[in-house]
Amino acid sequence: MKRRSFLAAGAAAVTSALLSGGRARAAAAADLPAIGLDGKALTLKGTDIDELRAALRGELLGAGQAGYDEARRLWNPSFDRHPALIARCAGAADVKRAVSFAAAQGLLTAVRAGGHSFSGQSACDGGLMLDLAPMRAVEVDPIARTARVAGGALLAQLDREAQVFGLATTAGVAADTGVAGLTLGGGIGRLGRRFGLACDNLIGAEVVTADGRWLRASEQENPDLLWALRGGGGNFGVVTEFVFRMHEVGPPVYGGEISYPLEQARTLLRSYADFCAGAPDELYVGADLIADPHGTWLLVFDVTYSGPLEKAAGVVAPLRKLGKPHADSLGVAAYTKLQGSEDAPGHFPQCMYLKGGLVGNMTPEFIDTAVGCIESGRLASTGLGFQPMGGAIGRVMPNATAFWNRAARYSMHIYGLWKSDADPDTAERNKEWVRGAYRKLDPLTQGRYVNIASLEDRNVVTAAYGENYLRLAALKKQYDPGNLFRLNANIKPA
Ligand SMILES: Cc1cc2nc3c(=O)[nH]c(=O)nc-3n(C[C@H](O)[C@H](O)[C@H](O)COP(=O)(O)OP(=O)(O)OC[C@H]3O[C@@H](n4cnc5c(N)ncnc54)[C@H](O)[C@@H]3O)c2cc1C
Repeated sequence: MKRRSFLAAGAAAVTSALLSGGRARAAAAADLPAIGLDGKALTLKGTDIDELRAALRGELLGAGQAGYDEARRLWNPSFDRHPALIARCAGAADVKRAVSFAAAQGLLTAVRAGGHSFSGQSACDGGLMLDLAPMRAVEVDPIARTARVAGGALLAQLDREAQVFGLATTAGVAADTGVAGLTLGGGIGRLGRRFGLACDNLIGAEVVTADGRWLRASEQENPDLLWALRGGGGNFGVVTEFVFRMHEVGPPVYGGEISYPLEQARTLLRSYADFCAGAPDELYVGADLIADPHGTWLLVFDVTYSGPLEKAAGVVAPLRKLGKPHADSLGVAAYTKLQGSEDAPGHFPQCMYLKGGLVGNMTPEFIDTAVGCIESGRLASTGLGFQPMGGAIGRVMPNATAFWNRAARYSMHIYGLWKSDADPDTAERNKEWVRGAYRKLDPLTQGRYVNIASLEDRNVVTAAYGENYLRLAALKKQYDPGNLFRLNANIKPA
């Protein structure tokens, strides 16, 4: 069935059968057209839908029901997907029931936590979307220095809870990103050079596998599964709870932004690369080539130093001596402020198209090419940036976790934005700029990071997992032989 006719039929069936007279729970469901794992049309029986609805503690939503449009919406509005059903899971039992239903029906299945997927894979047309947003509990044990984090929690919730106890672990730089997607793919962030990737700090997980089993993964129980969850993405099951090792951080740390005019970018990026190579693990300096809201093109350094405050000004001094800054907001700041944890809306007003890759040393050729891409485009709402890796991230052996590319020094992102109501020409122009920049920079990269990549590009998965791929494929066969969890950077069962 074509997508359009599926959508029309699905909406009509659900609207008439579920919504007549008010709340869905009261009405018997009609049979519902859906899409199977093989991409083919199938029909879900109304009685089966009713049974699932009755079994869930959370809601089961269909098109037209209150909350359906909000629940299916991802961070990036360019992914406008319409699942046949959305299971708003209230806990692990709901996840078990929803996964068992999907497996029994052979239904296309998407799993959503924070909804930040750059490839829009956490929603799907015609399938079952497991929405874990109702599962956002975070519980910190300040004595054991661990945090238990429910499968749908956002980074802001983890940071805010942990910082009250003076603790934190590596998380990404955008507060409304989901802990789940970020950690399962790797997780690069402001504390990464000091404490490793988010997945390096994952010491346990509770998982519902494709056969509906609930398993614990730790060094003692199912250690292979824990290994796979540390970077292997959403391939192995739905994680209902994460356990993290936490570290003493701040709460005040030192950081902010310091920016310079784009004209100096080539020289400054060379100094930046030298500076990063010798920087202490406590220092994170991201770099972005972007235009500010007034259209001034800049090289912006995003700085966090989480070491002793009395050393901070000295550590960041070389960044201040690079020239005359356009702006400088570096100073003592709450870690949650730098993380933006007070402001985590969960949706982005603009559409985004992104590609990414991992970079080794920033050679003069690489820098020249990157800056040249920006200079030749200078399109409003496009940008190119780098997150530093190295430090503790690079000290983990490539085969110690599923995350293979430990020698990378930077994760690069190239993106274009446009307002969702912008004309198609603007969207296409910005996308084409991203594609063009990627074509030039791709040969100079070394590997991929599944969380910051376009899954439409070839070899992303193999370039991300390198020699770990075969072990991952064997574990995929063990835990998900039918590839129920395929909407991700997909590892095929061996
Ligand atoms: C604004 C922005 C900033 C970002 N910054 C960073 C950054 O600083 N560092 C970094 O490393 N990455 C960053 N990312 C990328 C981010 O790590 C990925 O987009 C990640 O997948 C987001 O996780 P999520 O839970 O929000 O996504 P979702 O879209 O909810 O999920 C993404 C995928 O994760 C899997 N998944 C989600 N929840 C579960 C679960 N409970 N169990 C099993 N599988 C699950 C599914 O396969 C799903 O398709 C950023 C992304 C955005 C949009």
